[in-house]
Amino acid sequence: MTSASPSFQSRLAELQRIGREIAAPHAADVDVRSRFPAETLAALRAARLLSAPVPRELGGDGFGVRELAELCATLARACGSSAMVLAMHYVQVASLVRHGGEQPFFRDYLAELVVQQWLIGSMTSENGTFGEMRASLCAVEREAGRFTLNKDATTGSYCAEADAILVTARRTAQAPETDQVLVLVRRGEYRLQATGGWDALGMRGTCSPGFLLESAGAEAQILPCPFADIAAQSMVPYSHVLWAGLWWGIAADALARAGRLVRELAKRRPGHLPGNAVGLAEAAAQSQALRHHWMSLAGELDALEAPGGAGRADLGSIGWALKLNHLKIAASEAAPRIVHQALQVTGILGYKNDTAYSVGRHYRDVLSASLMISNGRILAKNASMLLVYQDG
Ligand SMILES: Cc1cc2nc3c(=O)[nH]c(=O)nc-3n(C[C@H](O)[C@H](O)[C@H](O)COP(=O)(O)OP(=O)(O)OC[C@H]3O[C@@H](n4cnc5c(N)ncnc54)[C@H](O)[C@@H]3O)c2cc1C
Repeated sequence: MTSASPSFQSRLAELQRIGREIAAPHAADVDVRSRFPAETLAALRAARLLSAPVPRELGGDGFGVRELAELCATLARACGSSAMVLAMHYVQVASLVRHGGEQPFFRDYLAELVVQQWLIGSMTSENGTFGEMRASLCAVEREAGRFTLNKDATTGSYCAEADAILVTARRTAQAPETDQVLVLVRRGEYRLQATGGWDALGMRGTCSPGFLLESAGAEAQILPCPFADIAAQSMVPYSHVLWAGLWWGIAADALARAGRLVRELAKRRPGHLPGNAVGLAEAAAQSQALRHHWMSLAGELDALEAPGGAGRADLGSIGWALKLNHLKIAASEAAPRIVHQALQVTGILGYKNDTAYSVGRHYRDVLSASLMISNGRILAKNASMLLVYQDG
């Protein structure tokens, strides 16, 4: 079930090499020191992989959701934090392409991003909005074609390393909390002050402390359409599919380690099924189901915008909102279960941090899945939608 285009296959092969030769060997150090995976990002830049979502006419690869998710899943098998950085960056770039791509400012910006391989971070979370992405307290202040925007962000992954950040804010100081816009602020036009550290359980290489942001720029940097549309048509669908892909990738690597151990044991006693082989079989079935879930939804998303598809506006429907939320809930619950199962299979060799079968980092990284937009919040939204929605 891999995409066939030759340009995609060569990009995927390059990413596999980066995963094997750079991300995987540094993953433990990135995790222990809670540091940015700088070597991996340098390699992704050198391979021009940061512009994969940019249309071909602007110099990028023009990859769809399915291809981007496969790239993230592949990198996750080497380093979960690196894959999360790549996935979050792709979500930001895709949002710019899909909602700013017709504007001269953003067309020029995207063409420049291809050349410079800029990295874009995200600031949607804010102190006081309690994890609700669709509400902002901070507001854009406009004057004479310029804006200022200050935000007290709870979490800003790799923002200290980014070349630009996409920030949500109220449209004006008078606008209600849900009347939001998305603003591109560029390095050199903002000041960041960390408001805490990032000594987290997992995803330690994403370097995601809180930040006070002070920024200014030209009004053209404010995306023209409401953030409500950007969230429904791009940010949520791309996040949920790319995240599901990378959570699966983390689980798949843990399972691969468990598989290697079981085969080692089997070789030692030919003709005997190792005691932990059945546990491996159970987890393998769960892994396949998860892989098919994100891949099929990614395919549906791409088909929506292919000739003859229902079009992007369909993503504003309750049916699509539920379907994407179901993927997020299912993937964020299944991936930790698979890693847990891999730990049962590997036993103490998986529990120790210094063996070829260690799955501790995988376990800690994948536990972030249910918190990245909390499952409780998503389920409450689904519950409301299901009061009025009947499938089929
Ligand atoms: C590794 C990582 C990287 C991140 N990077 C970024 C980033 O770069 N930029 C960014 O903006 N954000 C980022 N975030 C933040 C993330 O996307 C969420 O916004 C944030 O984790 C939510 O904070 P919270 O857990 O306090 O959320 P809340 O949604 O307030 O949830 C807190 C608790 O309340 C429960 N809850 C909340 N609402 C309801 C409800 N309606 N019904 C039932 N229960 C409810 C939840 O289940 C949960 O237990 C990152 C998070 C992680 C883990």
